[in-house]
Amino acid sequence: MVKVSVNGFGTIGKRVADAISKQRDMTLVGVSKTTPDYFSRMAQEFGLYVPRGKEREFEDRGISVEGSIEDMVENSDLVIDCTPEGQGMRNKEELYEKLGVKAIFQGGEKAEVAQVSFVAQCNYEEAIDKDFVRVVSCNTTGLARTLGSLQPLGIKKARVTLIRRAADPKEHRKGPINAIVPDPPRTPSHHGPDVRTVLKDLDIVTMAVKVPTTIMHLHTVMLEMNEEVKRDDIISHLEDAPRIILVSSDMGMKSTASLIEYFRDLGRKRGDIYEIVVFEDSVSVEGREVYYMQAVHQEADVVPENVDAVRAMFDLADKDESIETTDKSLGIWR
Ligand code: NAD
Repeated sequence: MVKVSVNGFGTIGKRVADAISKQRDMTLVGVSKTTPDYFSRMAQEFGLYVPRGKEREFEDRGISVEGSIEDMVENSDLVIDCTPEGQGMRNKEELYEKLGVKAIFQGGEKAEVAQVSFVAQCNYEEAIDKDFVRVVSCNTTGLARTLGSLQPLGIKKARVTLIRRAADPKEHRKGPINAIVPDPPRTPSHHGPDVRTVLKDLDIVTMAVKVPTTIMHLHTVMLEMNEEVKRDDIISHLEDAPRIILVSSDMGMKSTASLIEYFRDLGRKRGDIYEIVVFEDSVSVEGREVYYMQAVHQEADVVPENVDAVRAMFDLADKDESIETTDKSLGIWR
């Protein structure tokens, strides 16, 4: 059993903690919080660790604490760092390297934080036995999954526009907004180079805008292939790949809002959609050109990748076995 802890219990951390606690080959040592709030009360069920010297502040509010964040790291074989952008690099230098534990970082960190940037179905093997791995961002994960599944058909160029959610649902400080914001203002955006940290030889250029929604991102993808392809081949490659689903508008899936509603109705915890959702009606082929649109649930798609990264870093299973185990534990569609 690999002993795993989660440092940073926010949007991604709480989901990753839930996912780790469902794995039979991993034990969740605990999670960390820095402020004694309602979310800390929730974190108690996993075993709560707090900054050294702050224990009393939590206990005075009736929140029980197992120890300091340093204690949590010392008791772990691996830490999944889910702290905000930039903090992961500091934690690597000040905590994980010092205490000699492996660590997984998230997509807000620069690629240099780790030996490998990771998307399970694309480069699981590269993470085997590594000490530091970065699970790439929600957008990069989404693009790497679909583009990686189509690469065997021969992609010459990928050109993508990312229409990004302005904030996560909980982030009241970032709203309200009423604008469409080129973000970043310059093109191309950083997402293309980030996809290349995983799919190294892909010719990809991306642009991005932020829109007033909190629930999902949407990508419009245009590909030039090396040779003419058939629509059926595109569909079957997408269907056969893990963690990608296709939905059609005549069955009522016409927007990100319908998707979120459906997955809430299905009883997925927090309405999470771990899969990348391709709108099937948008898949079209003109000679060597391929077009499609996909939706990415930013709060959820990276969660199964964190679980697979743990298995790869301890060589607990091969790629297919790990993806299947993770997917079954989270109820991900096959
Ligand atoms: P968040 O702000 O929701 O959560 C971060 C948590 O870490 C907060 O609870 C914060 O209090 C805590 N924290 C801050 N400093 C800490 C420290 N020194 N030690 C322990 N805990 C500390 O952030 P998030 O959205 O979960 O993002 C975490 C990482 O995941 C970032 O790298 C981000 O880029 C990446 N990511 C975010 C999303 C998303 O849509 N939210 C998607 C994919 C990847």
